[in-house]
Amino acid sequence: MTGTRVLVLNSGSSSVKYQLIDMADESRPASGLVERIGEEGGTADHAAALRRVADELDGQGLGLDSPELAAIGHRVVHGGTRFTRPTLITDDVLAGIRDLVPLAPLHNPANITGIEVARRLRPDLPQVAVFDTAFHATIPEAAARYAVDAATADRYGIRRYGFHGTSHAYVSRATAALLGKDPAEVNVIVLHLGNGASASAVRGGVCVDTSMGLTPLEGLVMGTRSGDIDPAVVFHLERVAGLDTDEIDTLLNKKSGLLGLCGDNDMREIGRRMAEGDQAAQLAFDVYVHRLRRYVGAFTAVLGRVDAIAFTAGVGENSVAVRTAALLGLDNIGVTMDPVRNAVRGNGARVVSAPSSRVTVAVVPTDEELEIARDTYALACGTAGG
Ligand code: AMP
Repeated sequence: MTGTRVLVLNSGSSSVKYQLIDMADESRPASGLVERIGEEGGTADHAAALRRVADELDGQGLGLDSPELAAIGHRVVHGGTRFTRPTLITDDVLAGIRDLVPLAPLHNPANITGIEVARRLRPDLPQVAVFDTAFHATIPEAAARYAVDAATADRYGIRRYGFHGTSHAYVSRATAALLGKDPAEVNVIVLHLGNGASASAVRGGVCVDTSMGLTPLEGLVMGTRSGDIDPAVVFHLERVAGLDTDEIDTLLNKKSGLLGLCGDNDMREIGRRMAEGDQAAQLAFDVYVHRLRRYVGAFTAVLGRVDAIAFTAGVGENSVAVRTAALLGLDNIGVTMDPVRNAVRGNGARVVSAPSSRVTVAVVPTDEELEIARDTYALACGTAGG
């Protein structure tokens, strides 16, 4: 095999993101996004979206038939307990991903369509599935198990799987690199704060706990998801408010979180409103930050010794206010921010804690596409990977 390029496809419920990455130097000859799939005036379906991706690449002389293309890597949201590492896609693997649709009804079907179309376009090319859950497969039973009837849990696959795994893997390793250490030597709390948000506790490069659960609904307050709530809220809404299961699903996944609290899910807009004295925006921010602090405290106790806390994704990389409020007054657990470093805007990985801080606080931009490309290339082309 001579090609060194990997096409990374991230087929979401209403969009397909792609990046072409050349593994010779990790440069990106092409990238793009097809949005509004299945919406009026948008792209008809995932098959049409993938054809558009192929056309866009063709237009740049980088078509799917190029001999430079070595493999295609697919982001797949749910790997269940079966897929705990990147996996070369075969008919059997595809059937296995299909079996997991009940666990991820919004996400896995889109991933499957992406894989099917890509395999039709280039049946000869190795294709690899990289699972969002895989990095969390090492979480010990004590953290992965919910305390519900064991037979019911086993029968229906009810346990903590966790998500954003490629990001947590990439960022925990990049944080170790920033500290000049081997990942095996450092304990890191990773705070992935994007529109979806999750925290993870990584001990010596191995994930030992994470905030998302059976689905991406659990844990931190997110753009439109509630994160942790008393599960009895669901029965209460059913019995007292008369909502059905789908309505409650939509309420908690799409109309809650920051959006539900104040009407906006973008932290930039919330910051602007707070500056004008908007009380609802302030409360949304306060609830968001309070939850974040609870997880920092919980994962500090889980890890025992914390070497670094890493902020990543849209909010984590950009919101000075969230980083400040999340870690304010934690000197007693070894966390001392540097307000000047924290306020400096930048693109690369950087330290934002004070030199005296026992725990290094860092901003570490995530790169899920590169992580997927490295995993894909390593598996498809037999390299050691990065
Ligand atoms: P992601 O899912 O990682 O793309 O993150 C998207 C979210 O990041 C947006 O919804 C915003 O809330 C947030 N975000 C992006 N840029 C900024 C910024 N400059 N300041 C604060 N929040 C931001």
